[in-house]
Amino acid sequence: MKKQRWIACVPIVLALTMMVAIPSFAAKKEFFAIATGGTGGVYYPLGGALAQALTDKIPDLIVTAQAGNASVANCNLIGNRQIESAFIQSNIAYNAFNGVGDFKGKPVKNLRIIASLYPETIQIVGRADAGIKTIADIKGKRLIPGDRGSGTEIDCKNVLEALGLDYKDFSNVDWLGFSGAAQRLKDKQGDVTFNTVGWPTSAIMELALTSDIVLVPLDEKTIATLLKKYPFYARIVIPKGTYRGMDKDVPTITTMAQWAVDADVPDDLVYKLTQALWEKGKFVLRKKGDVADDSPSGAEIMAAIHSAGKQVQLKTALEGVGAVPLHPGAARYYREKGLIK
Ligand code: GLU
Repeated sequence: MKKQRWIACVPIVLALTMMVAIPSFAAKKEFFAIATGGTGGVYYPLGGALAQALTDKIPDLIVTAQAGNASVANCNLIGNRQIESAFIQSNIAYNAFNGVGDFKGKPVKNLRIIASLYPETIQIVGRADAGIKTIADIKGKRLIPGDRGSGTEIDCKNVLEALGLDYKDFSNVDWLGFSGAAQRLKDKQGDVTFNTVGWPTSAIMELALTSDIVLVPLDEKTIATLLKKYPFYARIVIPKGTYRGMDKDVPTITTMAQWAVDADVPDDLVYKLTQALWEKGKFVLRKKGDVADDSPSGAEIMAAIHSAGKQVQLKTALEGVGAVPLHPGAARYYREKGLIK
């Protein structure tokens, strides 16, 4: 009887041993997350591709990307220590670190930068049949300024301010991400939407296939006002043909997407992340023994999945960086490459 009981216990003991054994093996892996944006934007696909590349290239690390509300929300996630890293517009990172604009009185002092990634452009999309041709025509219309917590909404407010307008000048204001906003225009339930995002943007491309849209140019006076007031905006022209029916070049303004990180993430880990972003090969976290192989860099993987990813290049990695400090792990990498002193 006694012996039988012992035998009956064997599977339980084995199962318990495995439960103990497997987590102790798995526990050698570290976890690291990147907050991105809505599914209709560029942060989300590029962040997902980068997370997968980093997981492959740093064998003792599992990196995940999370969808979210984008720049302002992402700064707060890092500030509240709810995530290790995030994609953030450079003008919003500046506001967050310095406690200005939406961050007045609540600066995000633990924000650091790993790299500037690619330009993000303010794309104002209106419905042709709502009578929108120029920026002056948007007044009084049904406005979608972006998602709550997005950098897009802040850019929309900045543009409106430069035009002498605010939300009260619109017949309706509704906050939605790029896909939701495009759907509203398609359903004729909204007239104009702001999108600060790399182009071409899938949500706008899809909308342009089924609806007559206008990519609204910013006039020279508004551009000049914005450039004077905000140091992180630059001029850009979206070339004609970027979206169906777009037969003219469209002048507007742009800012940089940056990969930001919590200052408390260890220097060694951020060094390896920076290296894996820019270099081929595999990089081991806790011991010596990097593997020189052909596995593409994070930047190459991003270039392969979206044309905005082609602009992620080491030569522009430090563009617009400075007002928010580099993380010391990233700074060490750029110092070794001779890009900073
Ligand atoms: N730049 C946008 C924002 O912070 C998000 C862009 C994207 O999701 O690709 O509002």
